[in-house]
Amino acid sequence: MTSQRCFPADDFGVYYILSECTDHGALPAVKEAEEDRPHFQGVTGLRNLGNTCYMNAILQCLCSISPLVEYFLSGKYIAALQKDCSEVATAFAYLMTDMWLGDTDCVSPALFQATLGNLCPAFLKKTQQDAQEFLIYVLNELHEALKKYHRRRAYEKRSTQRRCKKVITSETSIITRLFEGQLSYSITCLKCDNCTYKNEVFTVLSLPIPYQHDCSLQDCLQCFFQQDTLTWSNQIHCSFCETKQETAVRASISKAPKTIIFHLKRFDIQGTMKRKLRTDIRYPLTNLDLTPYICPIFRKHPKYNLCAVVSVAVSDPETLQIVLLEATAEVGFNNFMLINHEPRGGESPKH
Ligand SMILES: [Zn+2]
Repeated sequence: MTSQRCFPADDFGVYYILSECTDHGALPAVKEAEEDRPHFQGVTGLRNLGNTCYMNAILQCLCSISPLVEYFLSGKYIAALQKDCSEVATAFAYLMTDMWLGDTDCVSPALFQATLGNLCPAFLKKTQQDAQEFLIYVLNELHEALKKYHRRRAYEKRSTQRRCKKVITSETSIITRLFEGQLSYSITCLKCDNCTYKNEVFTVLSLPIPYQHDCSLQDCLQCFFQQDTLTWSNQIHCSFCETKQETAVRASISKAPKTIIFHLKRFDIQGTMKRKLRTDIRYPLTNLDLTPYICPIFRKHPKYNLCAVVSVAVSDPETLQIVLLEATAEVGFNNFMLINHEPRGGESPKH
């Protein structure tokens, strides 16, 4: 996927200037005399371009995550830009700069929307899109634009017991460093107890909602990480028994991201029926403890503070409520972000 839109190369100059401003703590003065109320840096609204609340909510969250703000406003991203796909990251940097260093309390995300729309026309339509899918798309585009390749040699054990040299190439970016985690699944055959492991990278954890009433985020986590038994048609082939067997599967976090993103699965699909779970979910603002779900040797910083909530009322697409946007970057703490489809739909305030 490529975009036709190009930015003049000398436009990058502005970020070096902004970088100098932020380094010295001398942010441009806000013209308070022209405003009815004081304007706080970073507390900036986004204009609705026609059902773009899903987009604005996600952009608000991303533009309030401190390490990401610092990365873009300081100009660090410029050195990482891949020349052939830099448009989305550059437009994102423009928007971030407008929101943090501009002197108005509301800015338009039109340039960012147009740039993303060149790659995915669905985001140009004036219809509501899925906030979680939009988030994943934006994170993926930012990663592609800012990734760096790393090569390292590793030894691979083959069945012949010979160890073969292998070059492993990995890609990292500010996006993977902040948001990417890894799940490790232990898969145990219930007949012979043979256990195998499988790793899976994740950016968003989609959590089930186990109770209709009185449910907490911790209940959802406990449900996600509980052991699952696969029976009947879900049985897994055991290489030891050489047939399909009943299997116990359990997930744990083998790499915990700095900012972990949870999405609540409010749509329950049973056969052809799809129903929305309207359960209110309680969640802590600080000290969400992920210790029980992280593999013991990786439990360095298991506590998380809330940094952003996206709350979308699906029953009324015009209605959207961002419950909280708070960057809490205490030393030794990580952040979590929650995508929550508003359970009571139309009761949220219109904006
Ligand atoms: Zn077996």
